[in-house]
Amino acid sequence: MYQTMLIILTTDNYYFNRIWQDIFVCEDENELLAITKENNTCKKRTEQFNYGLCHTYICAEYRKYPLCKFQLKAKHSSDGTYQLYLSGSHDHQQRNTTARLPSPIREVIIRLSDNGIVTSKINKVMKALHPDLSIVTKVMNVARVQRQKDRSSVKFIQDLQQWCLLRQNVPPPNKQHDIFIPYYVANDVDDLFICLTTRQLLYVCKYSSVLAIDCTYKITTNELSLLVFGTSDYNRRFYPMGICLIS
Ligand SMILES: [Zn+2]
Repeated sequence: MYQTMLIILTTDNYYFNRIWQDIFVCEDENELLAITKENNTCKKRTEQFNYGLCHTYICAEYRKYPLCKFQLKAKHSSDGTYQLYLSGSHDHQQRNTTARLPSPIREVIIRLSDNGIVTSKINKVMKALHPDLSIVTKVMNVARVQRQKDRSSVKFIQDLQQWCLLRQNVPPPNKQHDIFIPYYVANDVDDLFICLTTRQLLYVCKYSSVLAIDCTYKITTNELSLLVFGTSDYNRRFYPMGICLIS
């Protein structure tokens, strides 16, 4: 006997009988963007059909209100316009349960952190005030985020300037891997450029004339950009020459 396997493909539209209402023709992409924004939506997906592209937008607050069924669909016509369809309406009755601390408690933590109280002390205070809440990691998170916001603090910049100053000189030849700072500007956390390298890194690159640069960000506590620069050889091997912390 042959076994038959039945595969049923469904999309979210089948869970909820959607009725699409033809509402508007947008002249161009800008108008479409304005309308989707006005309707508090964000793009969910783009599909390619015979007639062209079709964008689907869902409630921008879908994480907060998972029951909200509001959607927009924009079909791109060959003349550049977008036919807009609407389905459902915003339903923000039921909020998703959240692990976030209630605002009044967050405010107390932020105030304590602003006053220079260390996290362990804040934890003790919060435990005494709210013995029923298990909030140790959350206190740490709130306090950490708050410190990041306050990243231009004088203490941070002074420490950083001092750190750079101590590493300005090129290390002796027997210290190939010691970090030094050939150039730096550290006036403020928003006016920062610190170049770090070692003798070894510079030595490897001395015959190359190719410079490759790439940048990443948000990997440091202060969310500064980290620029990596180096060179490569004929085998496409990358040789780092140093990094720069910039803002
Ligand atoms: Zn909504």
